[in-house]
Amino acid sequence: MRSMSSLIHKLKATYPDISFTEGEQFLWSPSERIIYYTTGQANSTHLLLHELSHALLGHREYQRDIELVAMETAAWDEAKKYADTYKVRLNEAIIQDHLDTYREWLHARSTCPQCSASGYQTEASHYQCPACSHEWKVNEARICALRRYSLAK
Ligand SMILES: [Zn+2]
Ligand SMILES: [Zn+2]
Repeated sequence: MRSMSSLIHKLKATYPDISFTEGEQFLWSPSERIIYYTTGQANSTHLLLHELSHALLGHREYQRDIELVAMETAAWDEAKKYADTYKVRLNEAIIQDHLDTYREWLHARSTCPQCSASGYQTEASHYQCPACSHEWKVNEARICALRRYSLAK
């Protein structure tokens, strides 16, 4: 955990306009300008650079599920730019695992329950199928990490 505390120390010094606060999960809160982090987790330095990247990219709430997946990808691409500076050796397998969680979530939500075609999102919690015209409602994102931007209003 020494690398985590030294990374937090460096980030606090470099980004005085962003607060770094220990919390229950990794989370960038755009309204508070706080990055919440946990320390007892594997890959915590990866996730901290990832949340920093959301912050530096100015990510806020998303309108469409697909935007969230795009923001996740963008944040990892951004994190790679800081890996050398902060001496975090980013592991591509960890990054892809993280992105897969979002891709699988999007796939599950957007697949038509009647005919399995790919639907499109018409509103925050509605999808429609271009093949059979079926419309379905999706829940608020269930995985708490996926709710981060919609919660941070
Ligand atoms: Zn993210
Ligand atoms: Zn359908």
